Amino acid sequence: MSDPLIIVGSGMAGLGLARQIRARDTRRAITLITADSGDDYSKPLLSTGFAKGTPPERLAMRSPLDVADALQAVVRTHTRVDAIDSHARTLAIGAERLPYSELVLATGAAPSAPFTVADEVCDRVFTINDLDDYRRFHAALSRHGSAARVAIVGAGLVGCEFADDLLAGGHRVALVAPEPTPLARLLPPPLGQVLGKALGDTGADLRLGRSLEQLHRDDAAVTLTLDDGEALSADLVLIATGLSPRTALADTAGLTLSDAGIQTDRYLATSRPGIHALGDCACVAGLNAMYVQPLQASAKALAATLTGTPTAVAYGAWPVLVKTPSCPVVALPPRQSPTRWRIEGKGDDLSALAEDENGHLLGFALTGACVRRKVELARVAPPLLP
Ligand code: FAD
Repeated sequence: MSDPLIIVGSGMAGLGLARQIRARDTRRAITLITADSGDDYSKPLLSTGFAKGTPPERLAMRSPLDVADALQAVVRTHTRVDAIDSHARTLAIGAERLPYSELVLATGAAPSAPFTVADEVCDRVFTINDLDDYRRFHAALSRHGSAARVAIVGAGLVGCEFADDLLAGGHRVALVAPEPTPLARLLPPPLGQVLGKALGDTGADLRLGRSLEQLHRDDAAVTLTLDDGEALSADLVLIATGLSPRTALADTAGLTLSDAGIQTDRYLATSRPGIHALGDCACVAGLNAMYVQPLQASAKALAATLTGTPTAVAYGAWPVLVKTPSCPVVALPPRQSPTRWRIEGKGDDLSALAEDENGHLLGFALTGACVRRKVELARVAPPLLP
């Protein structure tokens, strides 16, 4: 029997690819390897679970056994691949050497924190980037009863979504970030203020324009010291200071990397023959979009390529829908710096249009009732990857 196609990573990118390949080829041997539990779950739902108190088992749509059965694939869980030998076409897992015919890296992105967390507080400090993280945080939250005090560090998409979700679940939330308005990478300040006001009205203690200096253990709590000297007390701390593509494994094979991830061309091919990459770990033709629609398009294109029809991937003008029900937000960030942001609307219902010097639309951001303009604007905005 020939060596299998191996996919490292069973997140939405790895599993999505395996499904697309199976739809085109029922016989090919496929092995999926994952460092985590291997449950099939939708990562975007992690930041919607606390409003309804959703237990982790309800987020796991299929067990790894069901996945293996449905895909007729070998699924290895809690298995970390240590290194790749691209000449011998083998993977190192401890002392084991596993041969592959073709290899796909779908290793995702890992939370990155600009500080180290001391041992004395680490049982109170969390990140939530997969279902196992959600399990741990859910258990800790349950131990603190119905109105836990949660300090969230970072006011990007993940921090804002968890803030809104935890508030809706009856918890007390403080949001700490150095930017003066939330979601600063997606929203120009007037729209960021709308979101900040909505989070504040829902009960968030906003500490924006402030950085975290120190985390200390207090008897039953954690104290966060901010750079303005203020102190905050919390039962739990959630770090949401960004994600970095996981490239350490790719590095062992000497693949071309950048801060944006494993460099690939439009065919998701890396710099070494027989190795492809997709999802949050991959920078495709200069762009790492890090959300679901681009990785789904990549999975479809790569499945076609790996089953004999070389297919380049293209991304449309796909806006990001931010899951903050207290203030609907949609954004399509411009790929180049706009000459101006044209702001329209009033109150909480604002449209911000990013334009070049000729008035051409490069991207947009919408709040409140204006989110309904997303389809109309996406039609005229430039595609992410034409
Ligand atoms: P991951 O899901 O991170 O999977 C990586 C896999 O690689 C895992 O199985 C891991 O165990 C495995 N792995 C890594 N290294 C190794 C190794 N050495 N050996 C073995 N296995 C390894 N996007 C949207 O479009 N809409 C949303 O509403 C949205 N909401 C989000 C909410 C949250 C809270 C977060 C964190 C993200 C959200 N995103 C959203 C982004 C989206 O979920 C991600 O882009 C997507 O899930 C990434 O999938 P992935 O398969 O590339 O990576």
